[in-house]
Amino acid sequence: MGEPLIFEKSVPGRKGYSLPDLDVPEVPIAELMPAEYLRKDPPLLPELSEVDVVRHFTNLSRDNYGIDQGFYPLGSCTMKYNPKVNEDVARFAGFAALHPLQPAQQTQGALQLLYQLEAALREITGMDRVTLQPAAGAQGELVGMLMIRAYHQSNGNPRRKVIVPDSAHGTNPATATLAGYEVQVVHSNADGLVDLDDLKHLVNQDTAALMLTNPNTLGLFEGDILKIAEMLHSVGALLYLDGANLNALLGLCRPGDMGFDVVHSNLHKTFTTPHGGGGPGAGALGVKSFLSPFLPVPVVEKTEKGYVLDDRRPQSIGKVQTFYGNFGNLVRAYTYIRRMGAIGFRKVSTNAILNANYIRKRLEQVYPVPYNRFCMHEFVASAKRFRDRDVHAWDIAKRLIDYGIYPPTVNFPMIVDEALMIEPTETEPKENLDRFCEAMLRIAKEIEEDPELVKTAPHTRTVTRLDEIRAVKELNLRWKPA
Ligand SMILES: *Cc1c(COP(=O)(O)O)cnc(C)c1O
Repeated sequence: MGEPLIFEKSVPGRKGYSLPDLDVPEVPIAELMPAEYLRKDPPLLPELSEVDVVRHFTNLSRDNYGIDQGFYPLGSCTMKYNPKVNEDVARFAGFAALHPLQPAQQTQGALQLLYQLEAALREITGMDRVTLQPAAGAQGELVGMLMIRAYHQSNGNPRRKVIVPDSAHGTNPATATLAGYEVQVVHSNADGLVDLDDLKHLVNQDTAALMLTNPNTLGLFEGDILKIAEMLHSVGALLYLDGANLNALLGLCRPGDMGFDVVHSNLHKTFTTPHGGGGPGAGALGVKSFLSPFLPVPVVEKTEKGYVLDDRRPQSIGKVQTFYGNFGNLVRAYTYIRRMGAIGFRKVSTNAILNANYIRKRLEQVYPVPYNRFCMHEFVASAKRFRDRDVHAWDIAKRLIDYGIYPPTVNFPMIVDEALMIEPTETEPKENLDRFCEAMLRIAKEIEEDPELVKTAPHTRTVTRLDEIRAVKELNLRWKPA
């Protein structure tokens, strides 16, 4: 390991500050605070000088990889460049120094921003109302499914089943289950799209909703979406869009016009607010008007007296987040949307689609694409042909790190063996796409010539192969003294 723990660098008595000598009478601590609140032993905090601390965290940050360093084609995650103007605006004192408990008269600007961001997202998605409270895509899904449940319940029966495609993101079945539904899987057909016959057999009066991703996780557009919407609506079921990633739709078409009743969108994917490191994110959720009575409270409304926070909504599913969501990220997303505008967004999606197809065509001979058609913002290749050398998608991902490139998503969606899910986004120049393709092609050669080199990668990092399962199952972030 390169950088030691900060505790290991600690030297007793070393300080990161220096204060002038005391020039007032010293008051014993016992006179200032009741004895029961006083520690008996000093806390075991690391003792370091300022330069030690700065170097420690700078060195740690250099072991990390982020979008400001290079290409990051992590499929489904939309790791696009985050414009720095977003940061400037989020730091305006008028936003950053507000307290969420300040009364509405003092926070009109912030409420106006929330109101206008909602309006922009309504226009982009074709929905009637949008809540900005969910802190992640997964929470947006849960809020959406709880609203769907409340809607069916208000009609006398919450229904029992939610249909999810076999290509769905894992959060979809998890969300449906958490919302109290039984999950039914609809299969994909030979084209990688929802199998309409299979769907027909599943949809009935007990179906609460279908949760769909479009373009789906293979990067393919569900061309029969209007037919699918009609199938669900004809039995009173609703259509949910997992719009975590809207990068192929922006400015070109709108979920609301495709028949979707509910859609969540990750502002930390499509709308350039930072993600990674556990958040904070923002999973804005849009709904058609018949669902708006169930929106979480409070809702920002515009009245003659200005903007207000309305929480008098008797059918609301309640409160889902502290205050109004991750406000700082909402400011960033709003800034991005205002900078781009409708024309800018059209360029975002067309360039995202162009970049994905460019890589697909450059790699398809060496990394076969099982559902190989014109794709949207991403595509899924397979590393299955390297199995006879005992090399897996995973190994290729690790080897890419040695080439200074963040690996694509692997082993998802589950309907592709040894999946490599590649999403370049629109913010990469052609040179970076070419560099990535050349690295991928070289790795394929390496597998033929020296598979061990790939199977033991990465070779250039501070740590190499980690036990990732154990890291998840036995998460241990606490230092304990020896
Ligand atoms: C990222 C993603 C999610 C989940 O979003 P989080 O913010 O990570 O909770 C759901 N569905 C799809 C298709 C995604 O790409």
